[in-house]
This record gives sequence, C-alpha cells and structure tokens, in this order.
Amino acid sequence: MIVVMKAHATEAEIQAVAKMVEELDYNAHIIRGIERTVVACVGDERGEQHQLTHLESVAGVERVMPVVRSFKLASREVRPEGSRIKVGNMEIGGKRIAVIAGPCAVESEAQVEAAADAVKAAGAHALRGGAFKPRTSPYSFQGMEDEGLRLLEKAGRRVGLPVVTEIMDPHDIDLVAAHSDMLQVGARNAQNFSLLRRLGRIKKPVLLKRGMSMKLEEFMMAAEYILSEGNPNVVLCERGIRTFETATRNTLDLNAVPLLKEWTHLPVIVDPSHGTGIYKMVAPMALAAIAAGADGLLIEVHPKPDSALSDGPQQLKPSRFAALMKSLKPLAEAVGRTL
Ligand code: PEP
Ligand code: MN
Repeated sequence: MIVVMKAHATEAEIQAVAKMVEELDYNAHIIRGIERTVVACVGDERGEQHQLTHLESVAGVERVMPVVRSFKLASREVRPEGSRIKVGNMEIGGKRIAVIAGPCAVESEAQVEAAADAVKAAGAHALRGGAFKPRTSPYSFQGMEDEGLRLLEKAGRRVGLPVVTEIMDPHDIDLVAAHSDMLQVGARNAQNFSLLRRLGRIKKPVLLKRGMSMKLEEFMMAAEYILSEGNPNVVLCERGIRTFETATRNTLDLNAVPLLKEWTHLPVIVDPSHGTGIYKMVAPMALAAIAAGADGLLIEVHPKPDSALSDGPQQLKPSRFAALMKSLKPLAEAVGRTL
C-alpha cells in the first residue's frame, strides 16, 4: 500500500504518518517526489492491510492505495515522474542521456589513463572499468583488484569524471565504495540476494545489470532487494539475455526499455557492448536504445581493443566511440533528450 500525501502536507504530517505506519508493523519508506510525497508501506503481505486504509482520515493524507505490482518500492506508482539518480556530477534519469564509458577491465595505469582521456574528450559523463572481474573461467584475467580501483579512481579524478566499477563480494563493499562513485552488480550476481541486501544498506548508487536468464519481473525484484533495505539509488541496465541465437554474444532485449520505463520509476540504461559482443554492432544498438527511451548507455571503450585482456571483440577504439557520440546527439534531440 502507499499513502499519498497532499501536495502541501507538512513535514510533521509526513513524519506522523510514517510513525503510524511503523506502529502497524510495516516499514515506512518516505519517497519524496517533485509534486508530492508518498509513504510506501512494505511488510508482510499477509498483514492486515485494511488497517492502513484508515490512514485516509489522518491530517495531510490525500489517499491510500494498493500497489498492484509485486515490486512495491520500484513501482512507478510511487514516483510517477521518475527518479533521477546523482552519480558525482552525472545525473541519470533526467533529460540528458547519461553515457558511462571505459574499458571492460582496468589493465594498467597507462591503459586506464588513455581510456579516461578518450572518453572524456568524446563527451562521456562517467568512466567505467572493472577491477574485480567476474570471469567465466578461473584461469582468465581476474582484474587488478585493489590496485585497479586506485588507478580507476585516479584517472577519473584527473579528467573530472565519476567512476563506476563492479562489486562481486559483499566483503569488498566498503573498499569499492571508498574508491568509486557507483557500484555495478554484474549479470552473474544479479540474484545474489545477500550482496543486493548489503548494497541496500549503503547510500552509493548501484548499477544493477540484468541477469542473463532473468525475466523482467525477476529483475525488478532484484532491484526491490536493494530499495527495501533503504538505498533508493538504483539504476537498471539491460545488457542482453541468453537465447537460442548464437550469432551474437547475447540478445539485446530492447523490449525491456519501454516496458521497464512503464513499470518502474528507476532509470534504465542499456549496454550494447555485452548485449551484442561485436564492436560493429555497438553503435547501431546504442542508437536504437536511445530511440526506445533509454536514459543512458554503458559502452566499453579500450585504447587498443586488439590487446584487451577481456572482451576485446566488443570494445570500441576511441575514434569509433567519438563517432558514436557525434551520431547520438541529433538522435537524442529527436526524442526530446540532450547529450
Ligand atoms: C562488465 O560490465 O564488464 C560485465 C562483466 O558485464 P556483465 O555483468 O553484464 O556481463
Ligand atoms: Mn566486459
């Protein structure tokens, strides 16, 4: 259930409603929108929900309504205008398309510095790079770990871009959060519920990727794990799913974009690099993602893709990334966005 407060409800009225909700054994999440504040009541679904409807007569309350969907806090009903998530000086979910770019993995100081210069010069808004890499084989390059985090942070600070990097192990959350502006949960961990819960207890934004066999409803429930622990800063990322088609690494499910935008207030971005696995397909699918209504893009860019230690075939070299950014601008404008 959600308690929709009147447009001019006072802070004292909002707090009083939250307190009453807690007294009925629900957790109260105060969600402040531009026009109105909503108190989302989450708890045991077997609870006596009808008690909440009595709140309709309390001062400052406009109405009490059920949230029909299984995901409660992520549902668009609680914030119809959509969420805007701040990541350093980048905002995801506003009018501007947010572009996060950088190498699959941090490989050396020279590599990440060159990547940072390239993506900054082309107009990206954040620098990415994996320091802890979830590789299919234990014998593949696993990332530079702590050293990689420090190199990524240094490169991002130098060029003035916030940094995004993957978190794999709940024990590393404090370390990774200390060196980055946004923590990415990869496809392989998208239903690691203890990791998601722990990420719900920090305030840093989380970039949640769709698991490779995840239905959209399951994707939403994964986001709900983070939100329900108190971290409202979640961005969803469609990165392709496994299908019978093997001509591409994954099948980029662009259906997900308009559907998720209808279901949830959380921003939705698209990763055409992992979604296709083929560098030549990254630009057309990036354009298609923006046309479909995505709030941003995650693009792998490497100064020398041929010698990359991971995901070489899908990484863009800097000149191709710069060309993509140029072609995105008129498209973004055509769909009422900016770059
Ligand atoms: C990545 O972003 O480099 C990555 C490993 O992505 P995914 O989890 O989507 O495979
Ligand atoms: Mn990668």
